[in-house]
Amino acid sequence: MWGSGHSYSMEACNCVEPEWPADELLMKYQYISDFLIALAYFSIPLELIYFVKKSPVLPYRWVLVLFGSFIVLCGATHLINLWTFTIHTRSVAVVMTTAKLLTALVSCATALMLVHIIPDLLSVKTREMFLKNKAAELDREMGLIRNQEETGRHVTMLTHEIRSTLHRHTILKTTFVELGRTLALEECALWMPTRRGLELQLYYTLHHQNPVGLTVPIQLPVINQVFNANHAVKISPSSPIARFRPAGKYLPGEVVAVRVPLLHLSNFQIHDWPELSTKRYALMVLMLPSDSARQWHVHELELVEVVVDQVAVALSHAAILEESTRARDLLMEQNIALDLARREAETAVRARNDFLAVMNHEMRTPMHAIIALSSLLQETELTPEQRLMVENILKSSNLLATLVNDVLDLSRLENGSLQLELGSFSLHALFRKVLNLIKPVASVKKLYVTLNLSPDMPECAAGDEKRLMQVLLNVIGNAVKFSKEGGVSISAFVAKPDELRNPRSPDFFSIPSDKHFYLQVQVKDTGSGINPQDIPKLFMKFVQSQPLANKSSDGSGLGLAICKRFVNVMEGQIWIESEGLGKGSTAIFIVKLGIPGRSNELKISRVPRGPGNQVEKNFSGLKVVVMDDNCVSRMVTEGLLLHLGCDVLAVVSGDECVNAVTNEHRVVFLDVSMPIAHHFEVAMLIRKKFSKQSNPQLVVALTGNTDKIIKENCLRFGMDGVVVKPVSVAKMRSILFELLKHGFLAESQ
Ligand code: ADP
Repeated sequence: MWGSGHSYSMEACNCVEPEWPADELLMKYQYISDFLIALAYFSIPLELIYFVKKSPVLPYRWVLVLFGSFIVLCGATHLINLWTFTIHTRSVAVVMTTAKLLTALVSCATALMLVHIIPDLLSVKTREMFLKNKAAELDREMGLIRNQEETGRHVTMLTHEIRSTLHRHTILKTTFVELGRTLALEECALWMPTRRGLELQLYYTLHHQNPVGLTVPIQLPVINQVFNANHAVKISPSSPIARFRPAGKYLPGEVVAVRVPLLHLSNFQIHDWPELSTKRYALMVLMLPSDSARQWHVHELELVEVVVDQVAVALSHAAILEESTRARDLLMEQNIALDLARREAETAVRARNDFLAVMNHEMRTPMHAIIALSSLLQETELTPEQRLMVENILKSSNLLATLVNDVLDLSRLENGSLQLELGSFSLHALFRKVLNLIKPVASVKKLYVTLNLSPDMPECAAGDEKRLMQVLLNVIGNAVKFSKEGGVSISAFVAKPDELRNPRSPDFFSIPSDKHFYLQVQVKDTGSGINPQDIPKLFMKFVQSQPLANKSSDGSGLGLAICKRFVNVMEGQIWIESEGLGKGSTAIFIVKLGIPGRSNELKISRVPRGPGNQVEKNFSGLKVVVMDDNCVSRMVTEGLLLHLGCDVLAVVSGDECVNAVTNEHRVVFLDVSMPIAHHFEVAMLIRKKFSKQSNPQLVVALTGNTDKIIKENCLRFGMDGVVVKPVSVAKMRSILFELLKHGFLAESQ
């Protein structure tokens, strides 16, 4: 096909038809061409060898070898041809023929081989094409992945950004700006459910910062469709939730909407987002640019869904934070208000206490005058009518004094300042004392009074005898007061644990111990009885079950209220039972008392020694000093003492008192009013002045104040006793008697 064709024809011309005349020039050209062809042929194998050497993985090496030999043989025939242009020898012809034969063989073999490898080569080509396509595809995918990675990075950044703040506005702003940038959005909006949950309100948009008033009913099919899908949904650009911006001149771009789950706020009561039992969603709408033919890609929608979930979490956290901030502010406000209220209450309590202290003192001073003077009057010559009047004055004044005491006790009980005065005392004697006090009144009303003390009741008990007596007197006094006929039965016994059940207060439980016992007292009367529905109210202050008209005696409605508090302080209970009006009533109370010697909680104080019955009628010549800056009060005390035969020196001030007192004076009455410190000083100065005297003065405080602390201070500053106003002639007599007998007053009088 190549040079061999020419050589063949030239050879045929020279050998088969030797007589054909040779054209000189043609010959020359042929000669040169053959030489060049041979040269070119020989260069090709060299190039092939080089090529094979350089590429060790080259397939089909033997084809190349065949091809190379074929080329070399072709070159050889062209070269041998150079000797055939002129008359040549037979050996040249033989060589030529051998070369041609070999060329023919090798070329046939090469052709056959080529036929064999062509399909292979073709398939390689197809494969190459396929790989090229694949590579292009991979490139595209790589681009996509890179793109997604990029958006992924955006999402991470966005997540970080929105989580780093818990401010709702910032969260939305960051999200919208980032989404808008990453997805090249035209607009993005958030619709929030309204307070009543019936509508969605445009809450935030990317480009319109303050969208106002735009609402759509929540029942719209498109909203339902979005709420029911847990992925982003393509919606029509003309649907109401996508029409929150003025229509442009271009066709609207593709729009998707996705639900934003809101935290179930049942525990947080977020005010903006009312709590509903159903799951609540906000709705986010995202819009592609209107002038582009761009469509939403799956990975873009996935991105939107991921971001929306993040936003939902962040919004929920923000909502909780908002609520807790609100709650904290509210608490702070409440705390401030509470603090103010507490301070006001404290001021009120202080004011009340001050008022009570002043009132107590101020009321006792005139009462002192009334009681002292009327008791003095009682001891003078009087007509029966006058005596009755004086007796009534005394009775009313005493009642008033009791009322003042009650009010004071109550206020101390209420502010917790009342403390029990604990000591050991004879229980039996206490009941006898109470009976002796009650009996005269009962006998006037022709009522019987029975006392039944159970044999198991201890002789002595440890507790506050005075308060227990007050409770007994009040309860028994009421029984007598509200009975017109019949009588009163009192029984006292040690309560058994199973009897310690007050049906009206089942939460009262006793604690059994060998150091204490529970004294139960029952006072049953045949009196007016009580309407059962009034019973619970009787223990309230100033409550009386019957109107005044029905009452046989006076009262304030304070007695039972005070009893209840005393009994409670004594870790007990008090209640009243009655079957109804006219059917009598039973008052029952239980108090916890110590067993003397065993109860280490109760400290035993001095057993008070009463003045006895043999009170001297006259203290003639007893030199007494009275110091009082109130002239009426001074005159009254002076009058009492003069009546008892004392030689009285009345002074106005502390200085005067200290100067006037001589060692002949036996008793000094110091009126202790406010300010008190000054009086303590007077007492101390008197003590100092006569410290070496064998028989020093008895300094006694005369006060309208019933405070325990005042009494304690008086004794601490060296006084020998405290006398609480008002003082009658009889009381002054027993005070002087006790003072002279014992050298001190066992308890405040
Ligand atoms: P008062 O000073 O009025 O007696 P109390 O607190 O002692 O105050 O009693 C309150 C009211 O309870 C009395 O006014 C009376 O109506 C009723 N009450 C108390 N004890 C009895 C009783 N034994 N019988 C009938 N009513 C009673």
